[in-house]
This record gives sequence, structure tokens and C-alpha cells, in this order.
Amino acid sequence: MINVTKTYLPPIEEYIHLLYGVWDRVHLTNNGPLALELEKQLKDYLGVKHLFFVSNGTIALQIAIKALDLKGEIITTPFSYVATTSSIVWENCKPKFVDIEPDSFTIDADKIESAINENTSAIMATHVFGIPCNVNKIKAIAEKHNLKVIYDAAHSFGVNYYDTSVFNYGDIATASFHATKLFHTVEGGAIVTNDDDLAHKISYMKSFGHKGQESFWGVGINGKNSEVHAAMGLCLLSKMPDVIQERKKLSEYYDTLLAPLMSKVYRPVIPGDTEYNYAYYPVVFESEEKLLQVRDSLNASFIYPRRYFYPSLNTLNYISDQPAPVSEGISSKILCLPLYNGLNEREIEQITTIIAAAIKY
Ligand SMILES: *Cc1c(COP(=O)(O)O)cnc(C)c1O
Repeated sequence: MINVTKTYLPPIEEYIHLLYGVWDRVHLTNNGPLALELEKQLKDYLGVKHLFFVSNGTIALQIAIKALDLKGEIITTPFSYVATTSSIVWENCKPKFVDIEPDSFTIDADKIESAINENTSAIMATHVFGIPCNVNKIKAIAEKHNLKVIYDAAHSFGVNYYDTSVFNYGDIATASFHATKLFHTVEGGAIVTNDDDLAHKISYMKSFGHKGQESFWGVGINGKNSEVHAAMGLCLLSKMPDVIQERKKLSEYYDTLLAPLMSKVYRPVIPGDTEYNYAYYPVVFESEEKLLQVRDSLNASFIYPRRYFYPSLNTLNYISDQPAPVSEGISSKILCLPLYNGLNEREIEQITTIIAAAIKY
């Protein structure tokens, strides 16, 4: 069986080695030494000023919205995982969808200004599949209209744009370290900011608002993560350059084998000046019908690609009447092919052969 992804795990001895320390200390959570060490190493790895290791990527988004005190409407992308939209709604704000660029699949910055009104408080965009948003244009629009910017960088671990980590863009950027993501801690996430005041606020918000044992800074939530999760991250972090290198090789092999089909399928365009992480391998087909044919053929051989991202988030049943034709079109025709460490070239040959046969009809 070949799934769209397969969680990358370290040698179990390396993980157990760190667990011995946890057992010795009997310090399982609440800013334990492994969680603090992981935060430090992630800051170094990503080259960012403040980073908080939290329990998942969704709580990271929700804390970001709270920390920026957002109200009213938040301009966002319809082409992302559901958490990008649901976290906005959960925090009692209204998602205002701006359609995506047909090439990069990220929010179309040229369409943002016409969606701004007196209730708009922020722009929350996703670097979808690790493809950087048009961060310079978005920054200029946000400054002009006095809006905050949050980037959902759940897919962007290890991506650099204009020689700096994508996590350095926006007032806040968030990560997911879920087991299906490129870098993971089983469950986990991070909140990144370069703003000292905001970081101060987030440090309280993610720990119930505790300011010492008996006093409170203000309202907070439980966003902490544990030592056993941090241990996984510490085992994996040093392996990330090799992990990304292997995925690059596999992606390029897909590129080579799919080249003869490029009149029938297309791939997102990654902007120049991007150092990419090869987190996903999305392919857009000519029609939803073709996509379903391809999926059925692959499934028949026990190969399970996924429809990332479908449906387009503007069509969720708790959103009313906000069309986004580009996103809806791409959503209905896009499939992420299997891509993970340990996938081999024979398997990629098998997958692309099945696709070639399926789209002929
Ligand atoms: C995975 C993901 C999230 C949510 O992360 P969790 O850690 O699963 O809560 C948010 N946004 C995007 C774009 C994601 O892909």
C-alpha cells in the first residue's frame, strides 16, 4: 500500500535515549528541558527571533488571532486545509475569501484591496504546499490599510524566500508539526514572531495566562506541548536537510516521468528566489472526471493519493455566498501524489505509468 504520505521516524534507539532522561527527571510537560531545547534549536534552524512550541498548528492559529486582538473580517485564502478557515470562525471573526492565483495557488494579492472594508482587521494567508505568498505586496497593502498579517506556514518548514525563512514574514507565522507534515513532533505546532511585545503576550496566552503559580497576566488557554513530543522533534531536526534533499530527488523524478504528460496536467509555479522544501507533489488534471479516473486507477493498485485541498473553503457549509472560481476550479481537479522519505523510484514509475494510462481515455 502506498499512501500520499508516510510519517518519517527516527531510529527508535535515538528516541528512547531521550525518554530515559524524561523518566529520570519525571518532568513531563510545562516547559520541560526538551521543549525548551527544541524551541531554541528551532529558532536557530529557522533563523527567527521568538518561537513557541505549542500543542498543534490549529491552536497556533487561534492564539495568533487572539494575540493580535483581531475582530470583524479577516481576509483569507479559500485554498488551504480547513483549519485556516475554521480557526477564524472559531475565534468569532468572519473569513472574507479572496481568490487565489492560478499559477502559485496562493492568495491573489492583486484582489485583496477590493475586499477590504471598515470591518477588516487582518490578512491570514497560507503558503500552500510551501509555496510562498506574495509577501511584499501583502505587506504593502497591510501597511497602507493598517491591517495585521498572519501566515499559516503549516507546509513551509525549511522554506526560504528572498534568503530568509518564510517564518520571518507577517506579524505572526504559524507551523504545524503534525505527523503528516514534513517536520513533526507527532502532534505539535509553533507560533513565530519577531515582535517582542507580541511574544511576551503569547508566552502567557499559551499557558493559561499564568504569571507564576498564583498570579495571572490575563486570559489564556492550554497551548503547551510535552517532553515526549519535544523528544521526537529533537530526534528529527538535525535530519531535516537530508529529508528535504531526498524529497527533492523524488520530486524531480516525478517531474521527469510526467514531462510527456504536461499538455494534459499542470503543476504549480514556485516563485523565483524560493528555496523550496518539496513538502507535497500536487498535480492538476484537465477535469474532475480525469482526476477521478486517475484516483480510481491508482486505488485499484493500492495507491492512495489525496485530494489536497478539496473542497474549496469558501464552499464550506458554514460559509455563505462567497464565490472563488479559481480556487473552486483547482480544488476540484487537484491531486497530491505520494511523496515521502522511503518512497522509491520503482514506485514513482508505477504511479506515473498508471496516471499516463488513465488520462488517455
Ligand atoms: C495541518 C494544517 C493545519 C493544522 O495543523 P494541526 O497541527 O493539524 O492542528 C493548519 N493549516 C494548514 C494549512 C495545515 O495543513
